[in-house]
Amino acid sequence: MALNLIMLGPPGAGKGTQAARFAKERGIPKISTGDMLREAVKTGTEVGLRAKAIMDRGELVSDDVMIGIVRERIDRDDARAGFILDGFPRTVAQAKALDGLMETREPLVVIDIVVPESELVRRLNSRVVCSNCGMNAESVAPQDIELVRCRYCGGRLVQRADDNESVVLERLKVYRRDTQPLVDYYCSRATFRSVDGSQPQHRVARDLAAAIEAARNGRVGLGVKS
Ligand code: AMP
Repeated sequence: MALNLIMLGPPGAGKGTQAARFAKERGIPKISTGDMLREAVKTGTEVGLRAKAIMDRGELVSDDVMIGIVRERIDRDDARAGFILDGFPRTVAQAKALDGLMETREPLVVIDIVVPESELVRRLNSRVVCSNCGMNAESVAPQDIELVRCRYCGGRLVQRADDNESVVLERLKVYRRDTQPLVDYYCSRATFRSVDGSQPQHRVARDLAAAIEAARNGRVGLGVKS
């Protein structure tokens, strides 16, 4: 049975890290719309050129563009056995479009990763990522990024252009306004679960796996809200 998973949660909640870990374990693709856009910016495609300024301000790229990107991506062969979407949907319009794309597939499992806002600001302002593969570099202070290389691929470490203080606050504002309503959109579904993302990573991973299993079986799940 295909596992079609979406990870909700604010920027800095750990969606990307947890999605990467889970995707590797289950052998299904992690589809991060943020990574796809950053790649498009790097290679200078038309979408990338238009998205860059929007991303640098912490705002959202248009629903039409994002829905088109995701439609094309989940249609590829490697997503037949399932996928993990990280960073999509981010608006109710995107969620409705995704429901349309899922009509002939297994129902979505929806996991909301919950983290208090003060912790998010702290995490985002000190986050360091690999310029090549996009993975987070743990325990590297921003002032040390020139000295250390990515432990996954050896790439150079950088601070994301949108992880500076003013853009972080804007992204959290946009999250509250446009993306938080998705919790109401999904929470009455039997396949919706919440996980406490403020715990250490391995505990989040454990609760996430349990919540996904529970959601798939339609049982009452673990987590802060079920
Ligand atoms: P992320 O890496 O998920 O934090 O995404 C980085 C930036 O890419 C966001 O702040 C948005 O500008 C843009 N972006 C990523 N995913 C979406 C989406 N589903 N809808 C609109 N904009 C997006």
